[in-house]
Amino acid sequence: MIGLRPNIAKMAGYTPGEQINDPAVVKLNTNENPYPPSPRVFEAIQAVLTGDKLRKYPEPSGISFRKAATRVLGIDSESILIGNGSDDILTILTRTFVPEGGRIVTLTPSYSLYKSLAEIQGARFQTVAFGPNWSLPAVSAIPPDTSIFFLANPNSPSGTFIDIQKIAAFIEGLPCPVVVDEAYADFAEDNALRLAKLPKVIVSRSFSKSMALAGIRFGYAVAQPEIIQEMIKVKDSYNCDVLSLTAAEAAIQDTAYVTETRSKILATRERMQPALEALGFQVTPSQANFLWCRRSDRPVQPIYEALKQQRILVRYMQYSDYGEGLRISVGTDAEIDRLLSCLHDII
Ligand SMILES: *Cc1c(COP(=O)(O)O)cnc(C)c1O
Repeated sequence: MIGLRPNIAKMAGYTPGEQINDPAVVKLNTNENPYPPSPRVFEAIQAVLTGDKLRKYPEPSGISFRKAATRVLGIDSESILIGNGSDDILTILTRTFVPEGGRIVTLTPSYSLYKSLAEIQGARFQTVAFGPNWSLPAVSAIPPDTSIFFLANPNSPSGTFIDIQKIAAFIEGLPCPVVVDEAYADFAEDNALRLAKLPKVIVSRSFSKSMALAGIRFGYAVAQPEIIQEMIKVKDSYNCDVLSLTAAEAAIQDTAYVTETRSKILATRERMQPALEALGFQVTPSQANFLWCRRSDRPVQPIYEALKQQRILVRYMQYSDYGEGLRISVGTDAEIDRLLSCLHDII
C-alpha cells in the first residue's frame, strides 16, 4: 500500500475480547461489572440530554470532573488528565514518552495492548518474566535504555497484586517513567495513588470495571502537574465527550455505590475460587474482578469452546512466552452458578 509505515504493515493489531451484545449470553470475558452503574449516572445524563449541552464542544480539560475527583481522591486537579477510556491514557503516555526506536518494557503475562502501542509507535517491545509468585523481577532485568515501563497492578490476566512499598522500591531503581495501570485498583486492598507524587510515576485508572461504565469510555491519569502538562500537548483537545464527562463526574462521587457493588463482587469471587479448584483448575488468588484459571491435565481451549456452545463467554488467553489459561470475570451469583454447572458437565 502506498505510503504505509512499515511498522503498521507488519503488526497484527490488538485483538479485543469478543463483544457479543446478546442478553442470553453470559459474558465473562472482558471483566465488565455485572452490576449497573450508579443511579446518579442516569440522572446526570438525563439532565444533560434535556439541556443544550450536546450542541457545544465539551470543556477540554474536564475541569468539572477533575474538581469532583479532587474531592474524592484528595489530590490536586492539576495532577489529573482525562482520557477516552484508560486505553487512551496509555496511548497518550506512549506518544509522550516513547520515541521511534525507543523501548517499551512490561512484565509477562500482562495486558497485551502494551505490545500494540509499541508497534504503532515504531518502538521495540520487551517483556520480563515475573519473579516467583508473581513478584517483581530484579531491577537489573530492566534494560537501561527503557523509554517507559508499564506495570498493571492488579495484573491481568493473573489478578495478582504487588505490594505498593515493593513497587516504590522497584521504581526508585528504574531509569525511566513508570506507569502503574490501575484498571482494577478499586477491587484491591491498596493502590499506588500516593506514588503519583514521585517525579517518574503515572497512575492510570479506568471507569470500565469498578464503575460499570465500559460503554461510556472514560479513564484518567494521575501524575505530577509537570508531567500532566506535557501529556495535555499530546492528547486530542476534545478526547472526552459531554456524556462521558457527565457520567464520570456522577460515578466517582457515588463512593457508597462503588463500595456496595465491590463487596458483592468480592463475595462472589471468594466462593468462585474453591468451586473452580474443585473442578480441577489451578486458580491464582485474585485482587481483581476475575480469576486466572489454568490446568496441567488438559488443554483449556476446548473448555472455552464448550462453554461458548452453552452461550457462556470466557477469555481464552495464550502467551508465546508463558502458556495458556482461561480468564474468567466475576459475574452475578446467578451467572457464576450457571458457569459452574456447565463446567461440571464439560469436565
Ligand atoms: C480493561 C483494561 C484497561 C482499559 O480500560 P478502558 O478504560 O476500558 O480503556 C487498561 N488496562 C488494563 C490492565 C485493563 O484490563
